[in-house]
Formats: sequence, C-alpha cells, structure tokens
Amino acid sequence: VWVPEIASEELLRCVHTEEYLNSFINGRINEQEQRRTGFPWSKGLVRRCRYETGGTLLAAEVALHRGLACSTAGGTHHAFPSFGSGFCLLNDLAVAAKYLISSSPGRKVLIVDLDVHQGDGTAFIFKEEPCVFTFSVHCGKNFPLRKQQSDLDVSVEDGLEDEEYLSTVEAHLPSVLEIFRPDVVLYDAGVDPHWEDELGRLRLTDQGLYRRDLYVMKTVVSRGVPVATVIGGGYSRDIDKLALRHSIVHRAATQVWRECGM
Ligand SMILES: [Zn+2]
Repeated sequence: VWVPEIASEELLRCVHTEEYLNSFINGRINEQEQRRTGFPWSKGLVRRCRYETGGTLLAAEVALHRGLACSTAGGTHHAFPSFGSGFCLLNDLAVAAKYLISSSPGRKVLIVDLDVHQGDGTAFIFKEEPCVFTFSVHCGKNFPLRKQQSDLDVSVEDGLEDEEYLSTVEAHLPSVLEIFRPDVVLYDAGVDPHWEDELGRLRLTDQGLYRRDLYVMKTVVSRGVPVATVIGGGYSRDIDKLALRHSIVHRAATQVWRECGM
C-alpha cells in the first residue's frame, strides 16, 4: 500500500486554469458554481480532491513499474479546466494523463472510462491531444445532457444487463488497443452501471461488474501494457454496500495479478 502526496498547484495547472484553481482552493466559488459541482465548498473538500488526484498519479506511476495498480478513489471525469461539475472538482484522470505524456515525450495514454456517465471533462481536455485517446462507454440518456466528443464514444440504452454490456465492451476494447497502441492505460471502473445504483439507469450485477473489470485489466495486461485503475462513480445511501461495490475492481485486480504471474 502506497500513500499519495497532495497534488501541488503547479501539477494541477497542467489541466486547470489559474483562475479556477485560485478560487477553488481559496473558497471563492459562488453558490451557483457550488451547486453545479454538487458539493458545498470546504477546506476538507479541497484537501480530499487534491489527495485524490495525487492518488491517481501515484497509481499511474506504480503501474508503470509494476504493471497494475489500483487507487481507492479517483475518476472525477466531469471536471473541466475552468469549472467543476457533477461531483467532480479536479479532473484526476486528466492530470495523471497530462503528467504521463509530459514526463516521457511520445508516450501514449489510453483512458478507458466505463463509468455510466460520459467522461465529458476528460473528452474536452484531450480533444486536440493525439497522445491521449479517450474511450467512453456510457448510458446515452444519462448526465451530462450535453455530451462532449471522446475519441470513441459508445452510447448504450437504459436497462442494459450484464451480457449485452460485456459484449459491448468486448466489441471495442481490443481494437482500440490494437489501433492506438497505448503505453499505459488509465481505467475508470465506475460502479454506477449497477442495477441498484441511484443514478445509473443500467442493470449490471456485482458479478457483471467483476467480469467487466477482470476483462478490461486482463485484456490490457496480457498485451504487456500497464494499467492504473480509479473507482469512478457509484451512488447509494448505504455506504457499506457502496464501499463493497467499489472494492470489486480491487478484488478483480488481485485475480489478474495472480493469474498473470505479476
Ligand atoms: Zn458516473
């Protein structure tokens, strides 16, 4: 177990505007902006988001050395450079991807975003960046209303169940890996496609999420590409149940680690 460092302002500036960082860190975001993020501002919130971003960065670095690493937070893909949105204040995936491409010129990063919502902030941030490929599978009728354009968007219908969902992922991931040939993958394993999720609209089971995570990690790792995972979204009033659901990716990772002799 590694403990992350807090993400510095300098690091965050690779994605976020100076103005936004100043107002977010110092608590100068107004009521309307706070409503858009879904969270009332507090110093604790700032600390949490900065550590979360540090955690995603650390997972990416550990993955580069060990082949597979999982953060216990992250996946705040709705955050844009100059504003927060949909429970996302800082875009940890974008910060980690920017860091990865700037620390090694020519390195290519694939973001696999299987949270039930489209990763609109991430898609926007990398729309002109050829070294980062954004791949999102999401429920078309779900938030955000106005989608951005990822490098590959797969929009699915409400009520999708395990088998159809898994075959959708299986139909696209291998060709994305084949064509883009990433050097590292960031995987957003959001659990909000779960049937019991309060915001999801899809009908995946625990087993379906487990099979999905296992498939993604095995498919990437078996090609010799390192993968770092983040937990993404998940919404339930029962926090114990939700925490257990978020741990599916870690349990699947343990199986990959064992089976792939890592
Ligand atoms: Zn989500």
